[in-house]
Amino acid sequence: MNSIVPPATVGMLGGGQLGRYALVAARLMGYRTIVVDPDPAAPAGRVADEHLVAAYDDETALARLSADCAVVTTEFENPPAAALRHLRRGGLVVAPSPEAVAVAQDRIAEKSFLTEHGFAVAPYVVICAPSDVDAAARWIDRPCLLKTARLGYDGKGQTAIELAIDLAAAWEEIGGVPAVLERRVPLDHELSVLVGRTADGRLASFPVTENHHVEGILDLSVVPARVDPEIADAAVLLGTNVAAALEFVGVLAVELFVTDGALLVNELAPRPHNSGHWTLDACATSQFDQQVRAVCGLALGSTNMTAPAAAMVNLLGDRWAGGEPDWAGVLADPAARLHLYGKAQPRPGRKMGHLTVLGDSADDVETHALALRERLHR
Ligand code: AMP
Repeated sequence: MNSIVPPATVGMLGGGQLGRYALVAARLMGYRTIVVDPDPAAPAGRVADEHLVAAYDDETALARLSADCAVVTTEFENPPAAALRHLRRGGLVVAPSPEAVAVAQDRIAEKSFLTEHGFAVAPYVVICAPSDVDAAARWIDRPCLLKTARLGYDGKGQTAIELAIDLAAAWEEIGGVPAVLERRVPLDHELSVLVGRTADGRLASFPVTENHHVEGILDLSVVPARVDPEIADAAVLLGTNVAAALEFVGVLAVELFVTDGALLVNELAPRPHNSGHWTLDACATSQFDQQVRAVCGLALGSTNMTAPAAAMVNLLGDRWAGGEPDWAGVLADPAARLHLYGKAQPRPGRKMGHLTVLGDSADDVETHALALRERLHR
């Protein structure tokens, strides 16, 4: 593939904050940008040259992308694979490929892809029919998680299965849709690896990130990850191997569990990831710059950190319960960077923004970021 260079047009399916940052990166480099999102208030709509307010499979919108764009990418895992295939058939560069997106948008496809390629995952069984429930009964002698195969994110579509629970009832509760029953594994650490890959196979991984979740939603990311250097190296190798096996083009997020010193792949996101937001402020190239570079076939940027350590904490809508938080402390702190996504409705659990703190050590930046966030409330 020849490189796609400015002022070509980059198309984005999905208008959330990840799309917003990627389109800012593209525009700064001189690309034109078009985003498709059905929500007129979508965060990326405010920064794109053009926002097509339409469903992701809307024929008129897809025809516009085909006519105007040199490449189309995505910022979420659930664009219809059929729409991506349609765009590619028309000759447009679609990155990541519809096949890679299809793997990452379905836990069953994802886990079978990973196991077939020799990547370890938590033990699981597939549940698609009542007979599968009976067969899985022996599994619930130990705690498990029942996860819908599709449309689960931030811990949504997940049910904890405790001992002696009625599995059939739990499956019905999640709608009787295809699901995986996964063994709950003891977590020493949760990590993620963000990997940029070009169509011709060049790869660049960002430093491994240590992640902490609250109620299934990412709360805090810290780099460098406080794990043994061998684990960090193995995580990078694992992430790049997964990206290569998927023939992924763009930025791939590989979420990992460290359990009893071993690495398991939890899930893949075929796009930049919340746990890579710190790269906006503490890396020579952000994950969004890298996404644009990778999908356009440019040289990948340096993933070196520009500070010894960084911590990112999410700001969920819950923090707006008493009105707009008091940003004065964060804005006055030279080590801190505030990011707000321009969302008007601060619903509980909704990602409204984040803040990043730079400093000398992982412990320091974690303490500093958490303390700053606590001071947002009047
Ligand atoms: P997921 O939506 O699958 O990424 O899960 C959200 C969070 O739930 C993860 O980041 C973990 O903290 C926890 N979790 C998910 N699966 C497991 C598992 N098999 N064992 C232990 N914790 C898990």
